Amino acid sequence: MTIARLFCSALLLLQLLMPAAATALALSPAEQALVDEPDPVHVAVMYDFVPFSYVEDGTHKGFVADLLRLLEHKTGARLKARIGEWGDNLEGLRQKQVDAIADVSFKPERTSFILYTTPYFEIPTVVFTDKRFGEYQGPADLSGRHVGVLRNIFYIRELRKRQDIRISEYDDYESLTRALAFGEIDAAIQNLTSGYHYATQNAYTNIKVAGEFRLDAVGREDLRFGVRTDRPAIQSLLQKGLDSITEQEWQALINRWVGTRSNALIERQQTAALTSEEREFVRTHPVIRVHNEATFEPFSFHEDGQPVGHSVDFIRLLAQRVGLRVEFVTGHSWNDYLEMLRRGELDVMTNIVHSQQRERYMHFTTPYLRLAQGIFRRADSPPIASVADLKARPLVLPKGFYTYEQLATQDTFQVEPANDSLEALMRVSTGTDEVTIEIMRVAEHLLQKYGIPGVAGSAPHQVIASEPLSLRLGITRSKPLLKQVLQKAMDSLTEQEKRQILQKWTGKGSQASNFLHLTGQELAWMESRAAIRICVTRQRLPYEDITQSSGNHIGAFAELLDVIRHNAGLSVRLVSVDNFRQALRLLKRGDCDLISRTPPGFDDPAVSLSQPLLNSALVIATGLDEVYVRNFLQLQTNRLAVTDGSHVQVHLERHHPELHLRPYPNIDAAMTAVAAGEAFGLVDTLPVISRAIVTGHHSDIKISGELEPTYPAVLATRSDEAVLLQIVNKAIQSIGPERFETITSRWLQVPILAEPPDYRLITQAAVATLLLVTLILLWNRKLARLNARIQDSRNQLMTAHEELKIKNRMLEQLSTTDRLTRLKNRLYLERAFEQQELLAQEDAAYTFSLMLVDIDHFKHVNDTFGHEQGDVVLTDFAAILKGSSREHDIIARWGGEEFMLICPQTDLATAAALAKQLLQTIRQHRFAGVGQCTASIGVATWTAGDTYSSLCRRADQALYQAKHDGRDRVCLQNDTLPTARQARYARPV
Ligand code: GH3
Ligand code: MG
Ligand code: MG
Repeated sequence: MTIARLFCSALLLLQLLMPAAATALALSPAEQALVDEPDPVHVAVMYDFVPFSYVEDGTHKGFVADLLRLLEHKTGARLKARIGEWGDNLEGLRQKQVDAIADVSFKPERTSFILYTTPYFEIPTVVFTDKRFGEYQGPADLSGRHVGVLRNIFYIRELRKRQDIRISEYDDYESLTRALAFGEIDAAIQNLTSGYHYATQNAYTNIKVAGEFRLDAVGREDLRFGVRTDRPAIQSLLQKGLDSITEQEWQALINRWVGTRSNALIERQQTAALTSEEREFVRTHPVIRVHNEATFEPFSFHEDGQPVGHSVDFIRLLAQRVGLRVEFVTGHSWNDYLEMLRRGELDVMTNIVHSQQRERYMHFTTPYLRLAQGIFRRADSPPIASVADLKARPLVLPKGFYTYEQLATQDTFQVEPANDSLEALMRVSTGTDEVTIEIMRVAEHLLQKYGIPGVAGSAPHQVIASEPLSLRLGITRSKPLLKQVLQKAMDSLTEQEKRQILQKWTGKGSQASNFLHLTGQELAWMESRAAIRICVTRQRLPYEDITQSSGNHIGAFAELLDVIRHNAGLSVRLVSVDNFRQALRLLKRGDCDLISRTPPGFDDPAVSLSQPLLNSALVIATGLDEVYVRNFLQLQTNRLAVTDGSHVQVHLERHHPELHLRPYPNIDAAMTAVAAGEAFGLVDTLPVISRAIVTGHHSDIKISGELEPTYPAVLATRSDEAVLLQIVNKAIQSIGPERFETITSRWLQVPILAEPPDYRLITQAAVATLLLVTLILLWNRKLARLNARIQDSRNQLMTAHEELKIKNRMLEQLSTTDRLTRLKNRLYLERAFEQQELLAQEDAAYTFSLMLVDIDHFKHVNDTFGHEQGDVVLTDFAAILKGSSREHDIIARWGGEEFMLICPQTDLATAAALAKQLLQTIRQHRFAGVGQCTASIGVATWTAGDTYSSLCRRADQALYQAKHDGRDRVCLQNDTLPTARQARYARPV
């Protein structure tokens, strides 16, 4: 979660729940006890983590120091900083010598000893550059540059794939920052805070942050509080304190410690309203003058004397969003427009590529379009395969276009100017010139529309630059506020809005299918159809709804469907229905082709289901007095409300015929019935219920439990429409993770949570619930207590969500932690193995190893010293394993007196050396009351084709060999070993 979102949620929460006083927190009895306690809460902090937490003149300073004071003020608790070195601090928390730790990042393997709060800061990785460098938008902006990074930084490999970037590695942040400041390199990629620190410390005023560096592998480092697992009240108290910090307070903290530039980074993601200064600008400059071209089709052109095209709609939408009016300036060439912008006679140019030269007289927004260029030549001339080929031909380019500016200045190209794109293409067609370079969509559109003969286009051209052009708005230099305002408007557009405009102008089936690779059969099928009819359901927000005023499809599904139809090039007609049952009828009758949502696992021979579009959970909402509901068994005797004909009703009827369901026409009616006591509870998906509680002001309803943690949304087709299903599945896969994230976070984030529900945790919590039946009894008591707390609070809904979060987190820990040793258990190992396997499959050079460790003659220890003493040895043994392995090794109890280590990024030889070292440490240890113990270790290393069980088996065989050879030794895998102990694996591993 970004800080920005944290701000939003925190703010929303305040507005919703505590309009008047922001200070009085509703504390549970346990939290109150903490506040009343004479002892302060001890928080371990770092002494050298500038600017977050450091010591100067003997005092603790930095972001965290201020944050702790603020939290003390908010919560009333006393928070005492314990200053130390990072490693000691973490170990101190593990040993429960301190209550909490600051500046810790979330790592799954740390959840065994840490309860996390949400992050209070996320440190981005950014690109530092010279002050003169423009804004950084993506790796393409580093093309041809010399870039410095930290040695062996984890994304170096991905960066090296870009051969147009020259890379140098530096040993530490300080020398990297210095290299940039002294001009050795053009850019330095590093985390915001360390770069900022060295830049300010050394007064390097010539460098700046050009933008956030984003690669798939590069996330933000999250800083949170971590709390010892046996003091959950401290965690919830800190969390409440964090949640109650206002936006202004966060801003002040960030401004003071992390600098203003990072703010701008954060702000860019917010769709904030205009500042008073910006509003004033709009009031005094209500009209903007925007250029319009004659023939840059389909983006900006003239039709029947009117400016039309994508850019025209786009700028109108932006203007409308912030209260500006657009006046189009027509009848000039591109080059003239540039000149007018320079003189301030024009405010805005659309579709402009950033260049340093242009930056002197215009401001740029972020890009809103990325379009590939192609090379277009006379069809009878030889193809162009290299820069040399291009230089040998007469080249015509629209004067002043980006490509013109780039190439005309190099006298090795023979560049002839044209007035616009159409003229350039015509001159190629008539043989006046031989070649032009143009945005492919524009050229293809013009060639077709004007029937221009004799021009051949190449694939996206690799000759001059491999990157598509990023098109932005250019704003006259004298109006920086206008740039700000338009940028904000742009940031506020939804994916759907952007998509709709683009589709209107470029979304014809054939072109859009570029986005997905469709087979001939699939394309033929699409050509045979006019449009796909999709049944969409009314009143199912946040998933979907049809607006009453305009009949638009809105919600998370609407936007995801939009991506799907765009990527697959499907034309779509919406068929609006009341509920799933009606949709099913229409589908079977052939009156629609696709249903937007079907119950998962819906079993009907006439219907085929797609891959899951997104996941959600089935939950139950009840009146405030009910206790937590764990599962359906508990509900058999109660009457349950559902919405009539909904997929939830159909699902429950099929899978839980024992339930007494009572249908209501819509979710609000169902909630009212629950509040009135007509029904015990209401079952639906978590987002639908959360939203209805908030929008319907059902403050008398709370969420009381998850019934099915995994309840994915799937689409359905008729089973005889296999091709459509195939296309839909491909399109679902084509939704990029970023797009998916923006859409789901916009619609599905529970509006009053500081953190979106973590479905992964919820799923795991469910697995745990099933597995740990015994724990459930324990849970009953815990839950009863938690619920008592809910009733204490005025804030029923918020608390309910919070408890669910805590419960899930704790269940997650319980499910993967061994009770005796507090190590991970087998359940966790399997997941850790899968992660390692993924890494190894992605990268042939990656490997990892397993160690199976078995205490020698442990039965004898039990027999001689008793079982309890045996337990002590096991716990001690676990501590030795933890203490003498590396931070990233995963240590688990395999069962009994056997332990398993997964060693990431470790080959056989390294693992063997580690194992020997381990045995040495064990040999030297004196176990309390028992004395010396030894162990034997079997080691195996992953090779391609290994499964979890095959690798475990090899480690086990090696262990058997070690025992056989006399114990207290390490044996390595050997595939030719007799499989004497394979019988052990008759049970699944
Ligand atoms: P070897 O050197 O061949 O491994 O001999 P061993 O005695 O260690 O091996 P064996 O598998 O024969 O015995 C393992 C013993 O570990 C048997 C069981 O009583 C004991 N054990 C298993 N789990 C626990 C536990 O949680 N606590 C205690 N105290 N003992 C356990
Ligand atoms: Mg054993
Ligand atoms: Mg043993």
